[in-house]
Amino acid sequence: MKMDGKTILITGASRGIGAAAAREFANQGANVALVARSEDDIAKLAGEIGPNALAIPCDVARYWEFEQAITATVSAFGGLDVLINNAGIIAPMAKIEDTDPDAWGHVIDVNLKGVYNGVRAALPIMLERGAGSIFNISSGAAHDPYEPWSAYCASKAGVYMLTRQVDLEYRSNGIRCIGLSPGTVATQMQRDIKSSGLGRVAQLEWTDHIPPEWPARTLVWMCGEEADGYLGNDVRLRDETIRNAVGLI
Ligand code: NAP
Repeated sequence: MKMDGKTILITGASRGIGAAAAREFANQGANVALVARSEDDIAKLAGEIGPNALAIPCDVARYWEFEQAITATVSAFGGLDVLINNAGIIAPMAKIEDTDPDAWGHVIDVNLKGVYNGVRAALPIMLERGAGSIFNISSGAAHDPYEPWSAYCASKAGVYMLTRQVDLEYRSNGIRCIGLSPGTVATQMQRDIKSSGLGRVAQLEWTDHIPPEWPARTLVWMCGEEADGYLGNDVRLRDETIRNAVGLI
């Protein structure tokens, strides 16, 4: 799919799925706004991509920072076509009785409130134009309890409901909102899970994970009408139908 002239803001773009998505969208001709806290990493990636990339240091858990990131994107590229809420954290990985309450709440601040912050800040711009896509990175953990990951599972279940809610409230205004549940992906998050040694996912081999380029290519596919059947729902990358539709297998 050609994305010439489209503008995409990707959170969590300093590494993993977000960085792969930034490269993929840029390869398809899009302008990409790279959002994360690691300034050096996003600056390096922006330098590698070229003038159609803008690095914007931002903590998605802070609403005003996210709003400024969206304003900076619109001033640089003239609009915002796609928002990808990808930034996420998994720790604390521990049984509930052993979790630190502040650390637990921080996961909700980043994974759930961070998605709300993006949606809240992007909607006025998209609604004014009567068009826009919002993709939220979901997880199998949105639908089932997994491992000792109570904060992560609760946050992703909340993200899934936000996807449904945005669709309910704004589909008729031209807003396309879809979740992407990628399966297990070979990124830093899986390294952290492996080092914890806790639960079934930690037992997987590195070769069991899909490369971050797969969800990246799926996100580009989700921009097309072919994905409209998933509005208000999660696209699941474990699903062979999706892998075929995207051209991954
Ligand atoms: P990752 O390599 O650990 O990357 C996480 C990204 O989130 C980093 O770029 C990080 O950048 C950013 N981030 C974390 N906290 C942030 C904050 N407060 N503000 C802005 N950015 C923040 O993990 P990943 O696997 O690519 O994860 C991307 C998404 O996929 C997450 O939502 C994750 O839950 C989801 N997911 C991953 C898997 C998997 O198997 N890997 C499976 C299902 C779902 P900075 O640290 O520089 O801020």
